[in-house]
Amino acid sequence: MALGLHAARIRHARNGSAQPAVGGRVLSPEKFVGCASAVRHARAARRSRARAAEQAIADYLSVRSPGAKDWYMAEDSGLAPYQQRQMAQLATCSDYAVCRGKRGAPEHQLCPCGQCKRENTEHAVLECPLYEGLREPLDRTMREHTALVLDEAHGYAMPPPEALRWAIDDHSPGWVSSCEKTQTSLMKYREALLSFHRESKRARYSKKKAAASQHPRAL
Ligand SMILES: [Zn+2]
Repeated sequence: MALGLHAARIRHARNGSAQPAVGGRVLSPEKFVGCASAVRHARAARRSRARAAEQAIADYLSVRSPGAKDWYMAEDSGLAPYQQRQMAQLATCSDYAVCRGKRGAPEHQLCPCGQCKRENTEHAVLECPLYEGLREPLDRTMREHTALVLDEAHGYAMPPPEALRWAIDDHSPGWVSSCEKTQTSLMKYREALLSFHRESKRARYSKKKAAASQHPRAL
């Protein structure tokens, strides 16, 4: 489409014809402007998708060493195989629209909750209203974990996104020293995070199933 319009503009300019043409068809000025606007919109959407994908890759690489296994895949990670899979899903956002919709239009990456937010791990775990009823045990362990850090790290008030990244990436905030107390607290928070992840997945699956039984053709 972009090349076609470009060629049409060149032909239009060279021939000095009264109306531009695409693929041999003569377009009215209104249609030509409409096509050009669609091309601009498609280009902007492509740029926006490229930026989102680059950001996701940059976030992923920023906490990983080249060639190193992710911590949760190590034999001494303390996680069962199904928990390792869950951690991989949380680390890569593979369950969420930001990953599943990355090849589509930008709106395909939005969360179905209607808050116009991209559905990624941080949004689903920390703020999405769809999972409000499942969040209390996770919030409680996060508050306990944050209180311990406040105590151990000379008053450092760890923000929730930082606590979440620590649980997923195993990189503690610079203020926190790794000791038995913080490791035990971190494991407790991770267990609550994995339970939340399981429950929220189940909730999404039930919702989809209910929607499919009401609108079988939507499948
Ligand atoms: Zn949401």
